[in-house]
This record gives sequence, structure tokens and C-alpha cells, in this order.
Amino acid sequence: MPPKTCQICTKASGIYPLCTGCFILRDKGKIVKCDKCSKWKKIENNCCVINITPPPPQTKPSGFAQTVVSLIQANMTCVINAI
Ligand SMILES: [Zn+2]
Ligand SMILES: [Zn+2]
Repeated sequence: MPPKTCQICTKASGIYPLCTGCFILRDKGKIVKCDKCSKWKKIENNCCVINITPPPPQTKPSGFAQTVVSLIQANMTCVINAI
């Protein structure tokens, strides 16, 4: 069986889904496993879990709101598929 690569940074990770560096980040709570798709992800990345924090009130490109809407829709699809 070929060695796995880290699901976060794609470095070689032996038999683990995460490399050593990303395991440390996981211990610090920066990397979590998605309940829905069982993939590891950075905490700041929304996966299937709908946890959208409102954008900060400062400078954001006008396309940002649209991006969030598409993200939510993608997440919903992922949730629906998981059920
Ligand atoms: Zn890694
Ligand atoms: Zn997910």
C-alpha cells in the first residue's frame, strides 16, 4: 500500500491521514475532522458544517457576499448528500 499523504498539506504522512506538523496543529485545535465527510480540515475552513461567521465590517471585495452564498449552497448540497 502506498504511504498516505497529509489531507491538509499533502506531505507524506506514512500510515496517518495527517503529517506530524498537522497533528500538532490538530492538538492545538487548529485542525478538526469534519463530522459529515470525515475529512480533516483547517478550523477556519468551512467544510460541510454550516458555521458561517459574518464577514468583518471593513474592506471586502463586493464579490465576497456572493462567494459566501455559493459556499453555503455547496455546504447544503454536501449535507444533503451525507444524509
Ligand atoms: Zn500536513
Ligand atoms: Zn465535510
